[in-house]
Amino acid sequence: MEKKGVTRRQFIKYAGATAALLGLSEALVPEIARALEELASGKPPVLWIQGQNCTGCSISFLNTNFPNVAELVLDKLSVRYHPNVMAAAGDLAFGVLEETAKELAGKYVLVVEGPIPTAEGGEYCTFGLEKETAPFNGYQRRKDKPIEAWMEELVPGAAAVIALGNCASFGGIPAANASVTGTKPVQEIVKGISRDKPVINIGGCPSHPDWFIGTVLDYLVNKRVPELDKHGRPTAFFGKLIHENCERRASFDAGLFLEDWNDNNPDFKLCLFKMGCKGPVTYADCPTRRWNSGVNWCVGANAPCHGCAEPTFYKDLSPLYEPLPNVNFLGINTTAETLGWVAAGATAVGIGAHYLYKQLGKKVPEGGEG
Ligand code: SF4
Ligand code: SF4
Repeated sequence: MEKKGVTRRQFIKYAGATAALLGLSEALVPEIARALEELASGKPPVLWIQGQNCTGCSISFLNTNFPNVAELVLDKLSVRYHPNVMAAAGDLAFGVLEETAKELAGKYVLVVEGPIPTAEGGEYCTFGLEKETAPFNGYQRRKDKPIEAWMEELVPGAAAVIALGNCASFGGIPAANASVTGTKPVQEIVKGISRDKPVINIGGCPSHPDWFIGTVLDYLVNKRVPELDKHGRPTAFFGKLIHENCERRASFDAGLFLEDWNDNNPDFKLCLFKMGCKGPVTYADCPTRRWNSGVNWCVGANAPCHGCAEPTFYKDLSPLYEPLPNVNFLGINTTAETLGWVAAGATAVGIGAHYLYKQLGKKVPEGGEG
């Protein structure tokens, strides 16, 4: 940091900004500074491998602006292997994976971006050499190594495994109905190799850079896996329903829905529920954290939330632009659970009285809705 002209004072300020960015308490600033210093001394080692992925989570991570967390972390964290950013290639690069697994067992964090294909002997995703086979017609033949074999080699020595992105965490798009690759989420593969190995699932398609960096810092500061929800996601980032914090919630409560993309009045932000918004069943902090260094988020950009942070994405939350099925608010089939709400009852879920009257076809009584 000194070489980059960053003073000690600026560094502590930076640690404070990082705490705020990650929604952590100010009391943790000294701990964050210490963790960042540890990062600066090259600890802990990280191995970042990719399965059936589009590299979107890596791109998302690298797209952060000032404060340039990605630069700090990637520069200072000992990322020993990352297929897109490392300078080495070929057998030299794969050798690093094998060496780290042997020499730093129990110390490295394994990041897996993308799920694991298991059909056809895992041949849908291979990298590196598994073995050389007998020459044929004078040509030396190689058998490439499936990522499943890499997992068997790398998981046992990992201190923790981070499944990065919805597909790594839950299968996502590669595991949708048309899949022929026998896709399995990372956690399923890890459990088959090392039952008690901690796996942290970071949903999102792609995942937000803060979700990843915050998880790594939390792990370094507290020396333990952060609090996770029932789907293995850090509650610090996936603890709240999108719908609870959405800026268009008043429109939802008032029964004011966009029904035709051409009808949108930019001055009046209509609720996107009928255009397929999955915010009512999606847990993530997008409305408050926002994306691209806090510039905007999906609904803010007039796009319905697709539910990309959820285990049910993509298979059970598509078609993306269709409303959630079996939701009739006041219809006989509707329950709080249908929408993923915790508390039952219209009042508890915050559906406005105006909307209730509208749905019942009744006139709002004079003098109020109560
Ligand atoms: S349905 Fe979507 S757009 Fe409407 S309030 Fe909920 S999260 Fe916001
Ligand atoms: S708003 Fe919804 S679709 Fe957009 S990133 Fe967040 S969880 Fe994914």
